[in-house]
Amino acid sequence: KNGPELETILEKQSCGREIGSRILVFVRLRPMGKKEREAGSRCCVRIVNQRDVYLTEFASENDYLRLKRLRGRHFTFDASFPDSTTQQEVYLTTTAELVEAVLQGRNGSVFCYGATGAGKTYTMLGTVENPGVMVLAIKDLFTKIRQRSCDGNHVVHLSYLEVYNETVRDLLSPGRPLVLREDKQGIVAANLTQYRAYSTDEVMALLQQGNQNRTTEPTRANETSSRSHAILQVMVEYRVKDASNNVVNRVGKLSLIDLAGSERALATDQRTLRSLEGANINKSLLALSSCINALVEGKKHIPYRNSKLTQLLKDSLGGVCNTVMMANISPSNLCFGETQNTLHWADRAKEIQTKACEANEEALQVPESEADQAKLLLKLQKEN
Ligand code: ADP
Ligand code: MG
Repeated sequence: KNGPELETILEKQSCGREIGSRILVFVRLRPMGKKEREAGSRCCVRIVNQRDVYLTEFASENDYLRLKRLRGRHFTFDASFPDSTTQQEVYLTTTAELVEAVLQGRNGSVFCYGATGAGKTYTMLGTVENPGVMVLAIKDLFTKIRQRSCDGNHVVHLSYLEVYNETVRDLLSPGRPLVLREDKQGIVAANLTQYRAYSTDEVMALLQQGNQNRTTEPTRANETSSRSHAILQVMVEYRVKDASNNVVNRVGKLSLIDLAGSERALATDQRTLRSLEGANINKSLLALSSCINALVEGKKHIPYRNSKLTQLLKDSLGGVCNTVMMANISPSNLCFGETQNTLHWADRAKEIQTKACEANEEALQVPESEADQAKLLLKLQKEN
């Protein structure tokens, strides 16, 4: 079977769970850090079972049994990951289905929310030994593409950008800030690098390099704390035969987003530059929370235009998209306030409804090169 035909058969066979009706929300607890232990922190979070999180200022096993009716608060999510959860388990539970959907021309997005040091970058990018969701998703994508076709029916492009201080930058080709403009697919960054990827191997290096280009500033609270929001976009394009046997182009887009620290910037540094940055980060995250509130309340007007971040996330939040939110939290009681804040927003995000997600389809465009064109012509002749 040739590419478009095989894709049509695979799509007819697939009967995935309906994941497009509301935002799925996951919580990941990270292990206690060395510094936190040395500072004498106690654990204030307990993952009670696969879905429930219990937050209290006293959360040892005994305290939990003794006090659970008296203080603290329970939250329930689509899944809650204890600190022993592996990167692979997190990927499989949160993102694997979205990768499958993107291969069917649907959009998906995963965003990590939480205070600086809570584990967002570890979850999204990870390390060379323990790669995170971004890398595992691309690896899985290429594996699935290889299983489906070996005739180059699928084309994968990557973009990696950041929003820092209300400025959008290309992480794959640092330079002048990018301008956002509206096109038929939504709001896009003009002249953003679209890197054509052929295999997983090159991607890890590319992302690590991109991450080096992220704007990070030393602050008193955390030397490598990042004040920028990073967005990796993976676009998959392929041809498929529609119901009337016409060959059409399908495009699926997966956005993987590592948000800046959600804590109050003034708590870590008082200097003017920092508070300006802080104000802008708050502006983006504040806009994000206003959008979440408006979406939860079913408002007609959602204030996406209030920040660069919400403009870029527009199709991920309220649009035609499968959306996953990951809330990262620290176990330490020193982070109690931040954890409470993170769990509050995660709890609220559960109520956001998204629209039913359909495949993005358009009539076949003229192939890029003459060779492609000849190949396609041959294919079409064989089919008829
Ligand atoms: P953030 O991006 O939210 O500021 P990081 O991802 O940089 O936080 O995590 C802070 C520190 O904790 C890093 O040293 C990271 O390696 C470590 N860490 C975070 N999550 C985990 C985890 N699940 N397992 C082991 N180490 C983790
Ligand atoms: Mg980070």
